[in-house]
Amino acid sequence: MKVHEYQAKEVLRAYGVPTPRGIVAGTATEARAAAEQLGGKVVVKAQIHAGGRGKGGGVKLASQADEVYVRARSILGMNLVTHQTGPEGREVKRVLIEEQVPIAREIYLGITLDRSLGKPVFMASAEGGMEIEDVASENPDAILKEVISRGRLHTFQARRLALGMGIRGDILAPTVRAIGSLARAYDESDATLVEINPFVLTHDGRAVALDAKMDIDDNALFRHPDLAALRDSAEEEPLETDAINHGLNYIKLDGNVGCMVNGAGLAMATMDIIQYAGGMPANFLDVGGGADKGQIKNGFRIILSDPNVKAILVNIFGGILKVDVLAAGIVAATQELNIAVPLVLRLEGTNVEQGRAILAESGLDFIVAGDMKEAAEQAVARAA
Ligand code: GDP
Ligand code: MN
Repeated sequence: MKVHEYQAKEVLRAYGVPTPRGIVAGTATEARAAAEQLGGKVVVKAQIHAGGRGKGGGVKLASQADEVYVRARSILGMNLVTHQTGPEGREVKRVLIEEQVPIAREIYLGITLDRSLGKPVFMASAEGGMEIEDVASENPDAILKEVISRGRLHTFQARRLALGMGIRGDILAPTVRAIGSLARAYDESDATLVEINPFVLTHDGRAVALDAKMDIDDNALFRHPDLAALRDSAEEEPLETDAINHGLNYIKLDGNVGCMVNGAGLAMATMDIIQYAGGMPANFLDVGGGADKGQIKNGFRIILSDPNVKAILVNIFGGILKVDVLAAGIVAATQELNIAVPLVLRLEGTNVEQGRAILAESGLDFIVAGDMKEAAEQAVARAA
């Protein structure tokens, strides 16, 4: 789950990470009031779940309150396009008004999971403001790394990172403290990503998180109700939110073959075999082991809400989810939803004969494939 910058900063502040003073605003009038309250020069920052806002025109400096009003008016409601939003962009519904800080140096700090090590890694780079992916490809040695074991980044590791970036003198201690606080926030929030780009050292001797990006592990949200409450569904793929609400695991993709599968492994294999047959999956959908009729129907409804879908491949290996239950669900969904695209079915497992009988008796037009390969070929051919 992604959260907004202003929310990430609230979380990080609670762990002692210094951030600029800021107030979030939903209207230009609120933005002006926020600027008056903060006093002095401010930054107006679009709040969307994507980075690269600065380059896209979503971050503007303003020196007085009337200017903040004008800036906020132009940013609020704008469709902000950045390299992370895709060409369709995102509508800006809130801005963060923050005091300007006098930047002396910008650095990059980030924590994420290193899957090959199975541990989080703290990354730091003197090249703040640059995308870490670009640094990684152009100048990989510029990225310093410290592996976090048992959730803890030791002080000597934080010092090694700061010293490695050439940080010396009075600013060293606050930087080391902030690095430690970021690591603790990552661990205790069950985050999958914390990224501060840029983290800045100021002319007045402060070490401050100027930007903040934080992703929380969805599977851990049940033990963080305070973090779960930060979810902004309006920023998420509506079909994915719809699926979550029905206990389905759906990820929208770009192809035209809709897939309904039970089990994440089989769902991935199904996407592979669709590609192998020369097609492109429109989605990942795991209906789970114990799906009922209602979930099957919702699964079809969600798949069909994607206008790109030209055929649906149902690939079910009946175990806990019995094939006859699934077949009844498919028949009911087809009748209720008026499914107009070809349905290719590959069904195996518990009660498969009863399931086939239900489909045959329904009089509806399904394409029943003998095996997975044939099913994929049929679905791809019909979607073409
Ligand atoms: P992003 O483009 O979405 O990553 O948004 P950032 O929060 O990183 O802001 C983009 C850029 O705006 C930063 O890299 C800074 O150069 C600039 N910026 C943001 N806040 C301040 C500030 O307080 N003072 C100054 N001088 N520049 C700022
Ligand atoms: Mn940034």
